[in-house]
Amino acid sequence: MKAAPFAYVRPSRLSDAIAELAETRGGGKVIAGGQSLAPVLAMRLARPDTLIDINSIEELGVLTRSGSALHIGAVVRQRRVERDPLSGSVPLLRLALPWVGHRELRSRGTVCGSLAHADPAAELPAVACCLDAELTLTGPNGHRRVSAREFFHGAMTTELTPDEILTSVRLPVAAAGEGFGFAEIARRHGDFALAGVAVRVRLPAGRPEATLTAFGVSDRPVTRDVSEQLAAAVTDSGEAPADRLKGPLSAVADELVDTDGDIHASRDYRRRLLLALAGRELSKAYERARDGAEEVAT
Ligand SMILES: Cc1cc2nc3c(=O)[nH]c(=O)nc-3n(C[C@H](O)[C@H](O)[C@H](O)COP(=O)(O)OP(=O)(O)OC[C@H]3O[C@@H](n4cnc5c(N)ncnc54)[C@H](O)[C@@H]3O)c2cc1C
Repeated sequence: MKAAPFAYVRPSRLSDAIAELAETRGGGKVIAGGQSLAPVLAMRLARPDTLIDINSIEELGVLTRSGSALHIGAVVRQRRVERDPLSGSVPLLRLALPWVGHRELRSRGTVCGSLAHADPAAELPAVACCLDAELTLTGPNGHRRVSAREFFHGAMTTELTPDEILTSVRLPVAAAGEGFGFAEIARRHGDFALAGVAVRVRLPAGRPEATLTAFGVSDRPVTRDVSEQLAAAVTDSGEAPADRLKGPLSAVADELVDTDGDIHASRDYRRRLLLALAGRELSKAYERARDGAEEVAT
């Protein structure tokens, strides 16, 4: 199938892109890497009047580290982030990127495009929620900053209004003594997750603080503080083996899976996947935090 006809504009200034988008009165769509939008257009599931291509806007191509955050502009490709030494400062992002589709898709797809698209089984929204990233949305009234945990409203639904562009995301760089884990189960490598987890562990004064974000099991990524569960699993010799985490995490897994199941997996299968992944990745992240094994920015 071919896309329905649309007008195409490629402004080189952000202010022009915002003006173009406002002019379409909700009938326009931003295109970044096109890896999700192009198939949707081809199937005529979306019929925008105008595509606003943001790829010529120089300021949106910025990938920098400033202070304690990695700043990723709206047209920065996933593959660029994966390869840039700067992203070593955000180990969770590094762990997650290889799971996003295939390398060819990542060399066009953008980090912000994945966030704006808001597929509930996508990896990068889960990373952003786990790290409590800050998103900048720009519209006719200027910029506003939104926490990732408030950005995702549901499947393919976000805080973005039709006249706003997600111009950048800021992810906190890892501090010494933090550990991370990321894993998912999909039917084949490169497919969206049936269930997945992103985790962050800190050990201030030796007592674990842990955050778990589950994805693929609900209509959006869901984040919980699981410090108590991790603390309950730590042995006298300072280990947190995955099998000791299953009990404490069981109720969390029950609560996080919010789906009746589909042709790919039942609710119970997803719950079991989530429980196994959460235990394994929390255990790994705890070990990394304890041993200082995470790569921290130079
Ligand atoms: C075969 C295949 C497999 C894939 N597998 C995975 C996978 O495993 N995991 C995964 O996460 N993704 C996967 N994807 C999705 C894809 O690779 C992208 O990562 C991502 O979802 C879209 O990024 P993009 O830059 O291409 O966005 P686009 O396709 O250009 O846009 C996607 C949507 O977001 C909007 N948008 C984009 N950028 C902005 C912005 N800056 N501001 C406002 N709105 C914006 C667009 O209007 C559109 O609605 C897959 C895609 C394909 C085709």
